[in-house]
Amino acid sequence: MLKLSAMAQIICIANQKGGVGKTTTAVNLSAALAVCEKRTLLVDCDPQANATTGVGLDKSHLIKTLYHGMIGDASADAVIVDSQIEFLKVMPARVELIGFDVEMMDRPDREQALRHLLKPVVKAFDYIIIDCPPSLSLLTVNAMTAADALLIPLQCEFYALEGLSQLVQTYQRIKSGLNPKLKIAGVLLTMFDRRTNLSHQVAEDAESHFKTLVYKTMIPRNVRLGEAPSFGQPILLYDAMSVGATSYFALAKEILAANHTGHA
Ligand code: ADP
Ligand code: MG
Repeated sequence: MLKLSAMAQIICIANQKGGVGKTTTAVNLSAALAVCEKRTLLVDCDPQANATTGVGLDKSHLIKTLYHGMIGDASADAVIVDSQIEFLKVMPARVELIGFDVEMMDRPDREQALRHLLKPVVKAFDYIIIDCPPSLSLLTVNAMTAADALLIPLQCEFYALEGLSQLVQTYQRIKSGLNPKLKIAGVLLTMFDRRTNLSHQVAEDAESHFKTLVYKTMIPRNVRLGEAPSFGQPILLYDAMSVGATSYFALAKEILAANHTGHA
């Protein structure tokens, strides 16, 4: 029986670029919050299902997935499964989620499927973290419509800020229509390499665009972070002493502190 509390804070991790660290952040931030004994739900909203395998779930053993929940064929409780970490539960994805856009085409509430699915469980968690696909498709729109806050990972590479205006436009459209309470939780610099000028340049550009919205915590490029998914383990299990693990733990602390003071 899940303990009820105040409503979870729902954070959606989005950037339509692939390979910027969305899934790595979703998996490891969720795990770090859970290690801090926050009841956390990781929602895998990407048909590639990298977050699902990244926390060690075997997709072939799943009965119902997020797809079934979002099209109305399964309740949230029927989709949620346990993970290897005590306070972390998962709404897993599988490849059938690709069919979601087509399945929902004629439904008037197609942007609100995830919001409706999560509604009965928001009091059972402290945090709900949603991993988005690398697009601004209906799945990402659902994630932003269900969320309280948007976390934008920015990879410290060339063109890091390119395409961000489309993301921000989508955010503004959803905020002015379906989800007025949506805010930007923060911009997270990922794969930061302090030895390169480029990383520092991206950090400067991000700060001049997003000002105080840029998280103080930066996620460095760290080989162990890249290895962990192939072992089906969040970094805190795979190598708790790595700089990747301490960085995601620091991000969790920063988010917890921001919520505590009501800024987040
Ligand atoms: P996205 O979900 O945005 O497509 P991922 O989180 O899957 O991006 O990251 C893309 C690739 O980069 C993955 O192989 C991942 O393991 C790796 N990666 C992500 N963050 C880091 C990091 N900080 N250091 C090293 N490798 C990383
Ligand atoms: Mg991903």
